[in-house]
Amino acid sequence: MIDATHDPALRSWVDVPAGHDFPVQNLPLGIFSAAASAPRAGMAIGERIVDLAALAAAGLLKLDAALVAGPTLNALLADAAARQTVRRQVSALLTDESHRAAVEPHLVQVREASLHLPCRVGDYTDFYVGIHHATNIGRLFRPDAPLLPNYKYVPIGYHGRASTVRVSGAPVVRPHGQRKGPSEDAPTFGPCRRLDYELEMGVWIGRGNDLGQPIPIAEAGTHVAGLCLLNDWSARDLQAWEYVPLGPFLAKNFLTSVSPWVVTAEALAPFRIAQALRPEGDPAPLPYLSDLGDQARGAFAIDLFVHLSTAATRAAGSAPVRLAASAARHMYWTVAQMITHHSSNGCALQPGDLLGTGTISGPDDASLGSLIEMSRGGAQPVALPGGETRTFLEDGDEVTLTARAVAEGFVPIGFGACVGRIAG
Ligand code: CA
Repeated sequence: MIDATHDPALRSWVDVPAGHDFPVQNLPLGIFSAAASAPRAGMAIGERIVDLAALAAAGLLKLDAALVAGPTLNALLADAAARQTVRRQVSALLTDESHRAAVEPHLVQVREASLHLPCRVGDYTDFYVGIHHATNIGRLFRPDAPLLPNYKYVPIGYHGRASTVRVSGAPVVRPHGQRKGPSEDAPTFGPCRRLDYELEMGVWIGRGNDLGQPIPIAEAGTHVAGLCLLNDWSARDLQAWEYVPLGPFLAKNFLTSVSPWVVTAEALAPFRIAQALRPEGDPAPLPYLSDLGDQARGAFAIDLFVHLSTAATRAAGSAPVRLAASAARHMYWTVAQMITHHSSNGCALQPGDLLGTGTISGPDDASLGSLIEMSRGGAQPVALPGGETRTFLEDGDEVTLTARAVAEGFVPIGFGACVGRIAG
């Protein structure tokens, strides 16, 4: 999977600031519109977007132009060969100065473009594979036995709501719902008082599977089109009251934010790492979830970050404060195991389906992926620079998720940002 497009010596004639998320080795896919143009497919390079539809129309890209005409990436993501062809061709166009005059007119400044949800999301499923998060949350309810017995056998998940997946930047409207505190006799209906974020990665499904045809674990990787950042906004007070016995419902489905760029499976090839060995005494995955190749390179060397700005920090001109630095290696199950388990009963996945990993916390206090963990269930306010504190999110708070894939011998690549500000 490593090829000339990953060569760390590659430089583009497009000016890319040092350390930028989108060097020519990345080339993430997205849907954008600019000026009078309708939403169409683009690739990010530095602070510019390559207009793939325009390149195809100009004969500079050899592929079925319908795949990049927009307004969604579903068809392109489903076609791994086409995805790889676009990557190779655009890499060549952007690194060979002789193509500059022909290609440059088809570049758009990011600041002059609007970014859209990259796919028509048919279904959205959220998993729970961040074992430190699952342990921390479980401990709030069951101090002696935080993880339930199924956790190390089943990649736990639930079906989320596709209609409320939005691209980064969508306002976060504080949901109303039933809230019942531990000391209250009965619930009341009103605005959420324990609004939280969840640091997750999203998986964009490429090729789907037919109903009744499970995806074998050894093939699951070929169904991954790419990854993004995902914020599973959560109303903890609604959740605590409603979740028994069927799990998350209105506490989760009011909004899910994703970063606009699909960092493709091809771009991520250099950043595949071995899945962490299970601790001594943990059960081995059942055979349908076991694959040597997946264990050898099914995880990702991706660092994850959460930053917060508040109305007060912005008014003071202060930089956003970092709330957490975590990493994708804290997933107890691989992406392939998530996909294989999801389809193991014959459930059909479709191109453009979105899977969330679940909150990815690390083992220490500086790597917690949600406020409910940082504040110990709301019991210990988190101190912010400037004297503010938070147990949960307040109106005006803005949460930014970012990520960076890093591997020795390769140019690091990033994901852009997944941003949401609490309205009010
Ligand atoms: Ca979640």
